[in-house]
Amino acid sequence: MKFQWVGGQCLKSKRESIPVINPATEEVLDHVPRGTAADADRAVQAAREAFKTWRWVPALEKAQMLHRIAADLRARQKELATLMTQEGGKPWCENRDEVEWVAACFQYYAEVGRNSRGSSLPPTFHHQVNFTIKEPYGVVVGIIPWNYPLLLMVWKVAPALMAGNTIILKPSEETPLSLLNMVDIFEKHLPPGVVNIVTGYGEEVGEALVKHPGTDLIAITGSVETGKRVGQLCAAQVKKFHGELGGNDPFIVCSDADLDIATRACAWAAFLNTGQVCTSAKRIYVFNDIADEFVKRVVKFTKSLKLGNGLDPDTDIGPMINMKQLNDVHARVTDAVRDGAKVLCGGGRPLNPKRGFFYEPTVVVNVKQKMRLVHTETFGPILPIMRVKDIDHAIELANDSNYGLGANIYTNNMEWAMKAMERITAGTFWINDPLTDNDAGPFGGMRQTGHSRELGEEGLDEFRETKHVHLDYKQEIKPYWYPYAKYNRLASQ
Ligand code: NAD
Repeated sequence: MKFQWVGGQCLKSKRESIPVINPATEEVLDHVPRGTAADADRAVQAAREAFKTWRWVPALEKAQMLHRIAADLRARQKELATLMTQEGGKPWCENRDEVEWVAACFQYYAEVGRNSRGSSLPPTFHHQVNFTIKEPYGVVVGIIPWNYPLLLMVWKVAPALMAGNTIILKPSEETPLSLLNMVDIFEKHLPPGVVNIVTGYGEEVGEALVKHPGTDLIAITGSVETGKRVGQLCAAQVKKFHGELGGNDPFIVCSDADLDIATRACAWAAFLNTGQVCTSAKRIYVFNDIADEFVKRVVKFTKSLKLGNGLDPDTDIGPMINMKQLNDVHARVTDAVRDGAKVLCGGGRPLNPKRGFFYEPTVVVNVKQKMRLVHTETFGPILPIMRVKDIDHAIELANDSNYGLGANIYTNNMEWAMKAMERITAGTFWINDPLTDNDAGPFGGMRQTGHSRELGEEGLDEFRETKHVHLDYKQEIKPYWYPYAKYNRLASQ
């Protein structure tokens, strides 16, 4: 797919391209253009031009377009899921679900975007009317990571478009193909220039978009490190920054948890998408009195999971995205072992499959809170377990973090669940059901995970600015205008 998509046109490129590698086979799937600042500029011009008319398109018309996009996506669900597995490695069923969530999210914002455009306020004086209207920012840039290439696209595109913005998308250089594969759907249902796609490296075409004076809002999902860089560039221009950054979610298992359920829940929360989810369970805190039994069961269950190519229907866990990530995760495990941690299963590359960026699902005990493996985000299939005395100890360790995306607890003890919910700093708190999203429920983080929200009405408001309108339906000379002598006389009477 040697093209970028700008102003409704495929920009074919003969310049240097970036290979897209299938992480399960290490084969080159395709190439995409290595976008430049000139490409970014072209996309900005197209998006600015389209914004002139798109902002005034009635919400109902916009909604109908988004509903049609959702229908076409569902019709292409299997084909897209296959391509997503080939470029990103996730098991096919996870990608099939992702396409469905994407379609549902287009529909959700098609409807929520029709509900309101501001609110009416009580005036400070009679014959006056006060209200707010919500306005689009203009040209939005959506920068997307590789782990959920379409989901994290729609969380930006759908609300941004319903709010009246146009958008330029920059997919990850690892997984640009699924988005490019959707271009004909956008082309069929949206006016040219409303959605544009540029491909390439973050430091090149990504930064060119961030720095461009013609872009108004940068919405990025990525690591904390990248978010800090992009946030600094935005701050220097006083440009609106929306950051959904890394996470390091705690998962607490209390004494009363049903261990059969909690062990499977924990394994799924830690290994889903090979542990490469922003909300993966990355620090497991288990009450002392059940810890031995929990560890035994979780190790047994982990050993039963099947590693393989995500296109194989028996596969539970696919490859990691690339060798760099795999080496990073392995170095963290190795460091932890050097400092006293014990690997109970996994801990390296499997004998089979021989090719591909596979890493065994790994259970580690004797880990300490300050080890790099648990104190910073480890983006891979690692399940590190720590023992805690009680709920207060679990809350204390859960809060000992620079991140604040999600947190999980398994218990039916209302007091423990509510205490943890109120005291743990996290944007989402899951009780007895990890990692379940709801289009209507705002999603985002606290602390260095960022302070933005996607999904829900909050997710729409991130792409709208508020204008306050003050109207006096009676023209009159106000007593507090010049000359002040008369005003002061009135006040002293
Ligand atoms: P990344 O930060 O390496 O890249 C994310 C995107 O930013 C890519 O498209 C990349 O090309 C671009 N980018 C990189 N440097 C840039 C720059 N200087 N200017 C502009 N764009 C730049 O992240 P990744 O490895 O693709 O994704 C994994 C990370 O994303 C993890 O930390 C994960 O926790 C996080 N994530 C967060 C959420 C959330 O909702 N909070 C969701 C998914 C993933």
